[in-house]
Amino acid sequence: MISLAGRTAVVFGLANKRSIAWAIAQKLHAAGARLVITYQNERFEETAAKLAATLPKGSIVECDVNKDENVVAAFAKIKEKFDAVDILVHSIAYANREDLGGSFLTTGREGFRLALDISAYSLIPIVREAAPLMKNGGSIIAMTFYASTRVFPGYNIMGTAKAALEHEVRQLAGELGQKNIRVNAISAGPLDTLAARGIPGFIKMKQIHAERAPMRRNITHEEVAKTALYLCSDLASAVTGAIIPVDTGYHIVAM
Ligand code: NAD
Repeated sequence: MISLAGRTAVVFGLANKRSIAWAIAQKLHAAGARLVITYQNERFEETAAKLAATLPKGSIVECDVNKDENVVAAFAKIKEKFDAVDILVHSIAYANREDLGGSFLTTGREGFRLALDISAYSLIPIVREAAPLMKNGGSIIAMTFYASTRVFPGYNIMGTAKAALEHEVRQLAGELGQKNIRVNAISAGPLDTLAARGIPGFIKMKQIHAERAPMRRNITHEEVAKTALYLCSDLASAVTGAIIPVDTGYHIVAM
């Protein structure tokens, strides 16, 4: 049994009960961690409050990552409650609908900037605030997808953003390793969530995944959360800078 008793986890990216962030938060909580869950804005506040209330000692903090000062303000609130943070989960992505699907050639400069800003850049200010609180070392996890290195029709600009995010994971792992802060990403197979529904052809993508993956099925939220728990625990004490596929093996298939 993995224990995270006495550890504090900050999880970014809760929209609703289907959010990967929620599956991870529940799993970390079940292992004994104290949870701080962040939500983007008032649109998600009620749901975040209701879900967090089901986790004893769970609390919520608003944070739209579109501005550095919002991230600084969120961590100021977290610091009021906790001296140290041990675990950080980045489970955030956004792109304009018109930049998902259709021709990649039509991606505009502003849409590119926005997708990369929210989905990739945001990891940097979040880690900048979290790392000084990781006084006893820590584990940072970002969520990525195989479209970072392969072409998935429809994923378009989000593939570019995931490529940037994965590079940041390695860069941050290189910089923070000496502080015993580990930085990894989970590359999840397709899961039905709010963000996934914005990808044109997502249902077909999920079907093809189940047909071709070596294990001949899709993954579950629970399976992503279990890998997150492993990465947050001492079992992964020497694992950093890794992109871990949780995809029933889809990433090894060529034909
Ligand atoms: P989701 O819609 O539940 O979560 C995305 C979250 O990003 C939401 O909570 C949303 O509020 C947040 N967000 C967007 N813009 C924000 C902003 N400006 N400030 C703060 N938060 C913002 O969907 P999800 O599938 O759980 O996505 C979580 C992560 O997992 C994303 O990085 C996504 O790319 C990744 N991922 C998802 C899948 C999948 O198939 N669902 C597969 C691989 C990776």
